[in-house]
Amino acid sequence: MTSSISLHHYGRHTFLVLTFIVFSVTARRLVNLKPPCFFILNMAWRCTGTTNTELIDNMAKSKIINSERVTKAMTRVDRACYVRQPSAAYEDSPQPIGHGATISAPHMHAHAAENLLPFLKPGARVLDVGSGSGYLCAVLYQLLQDPGDPRSAESKVFGIEHIPELVDWSLGNLRRDGLGEAIDQGKIKVISGDGRKGLPEEGPYDAIHVGAAAPTLPAPLVEQLARPGRMFIPVGSHMQQVLQIDKDENGQVTETPLLDVMYVPLTDRDKQV
Ligand code: SAH
Repeated sequence: MTSSISLHHYGRHTFLVLTFIVFSVTARRLVNLKPPCFFILNMAWRCTGTTNTELIDNMAKSKIINSERVTKAMTRVDRACYVRQPSAAYEDSPQPIGHGATISAPHMHAHAAENLLPFLKPGARVLDVGSGSGYLCAVLYQLLQDPGDPRSAESKVFGIEHIPELVDWSLGNLRRDGLGEAIDQGKIKVISGDGRKGLPEEGPYDAIHVGAAAPTLPAPLVEQLARPGRMFIPVGSHMQQVLQIDKDENGQVTETPLLDVMYVPLTDRDKQV
């Protein structure tokens, strides 16, 4: 009897320990799988600020933002202009923007900007697929501006989004954030369409950001990358990984897995809404 009880207790304890281990590993996989990323993620959620500047400063202190250029660009873009609930604007979390979409968490936008940075020079052409709120279009635009470089005037950011209501809303957001002139001059364009096909008529692009997870790498987007060019794209259905796709001067393409994530799927419009 005694031994069966202790065995029972021992079994229960082992079961609880195993459950805890499985839960921790699964939780890590769900949020950001690799241990270093899990560490970054823990720090990421602590980046929430009470103002836009505080949010960006916290990401810089946590080494999610590592460059002065990204710090400055993200400080110029007020996240409150791109969310439905301004009271949550400076939280480091994704937030619903309607139509089955979310504005990504600030730390994911920061990772994307840091990753694409070598390709974000004045005069560059950049495509943001699944542009949603328009927030990253604004950050990318700011990154292509350097008051001392006349090529800044040639910089172009294209957003493509398949929900027309989000296209209209994002253009209003960008205007509220002081980018009306850039829109009127055609330096920022947000187009309604299927982002999986890209926007071949405006390419090739020095940098492509994809804000939704593609089940497989969309060939038209790889095609539309400039030589050289870089794409930041989450790929996968259940488990998703951000891939860095580099195309070199000769057109040679390489893939580098960066981090494990959970994004809204890059899909058909009627499957999303
Ligand atoms: N990066 C944006 C939005 C992220 S949510 C932001 O932070 O605001 C992903 C977006 O991709 C959603 O707005 C969704 O409507 C869009 N999307 C999903 N599938 C798409 C497709 N096939 N073509 C264009 N946009 C798509």
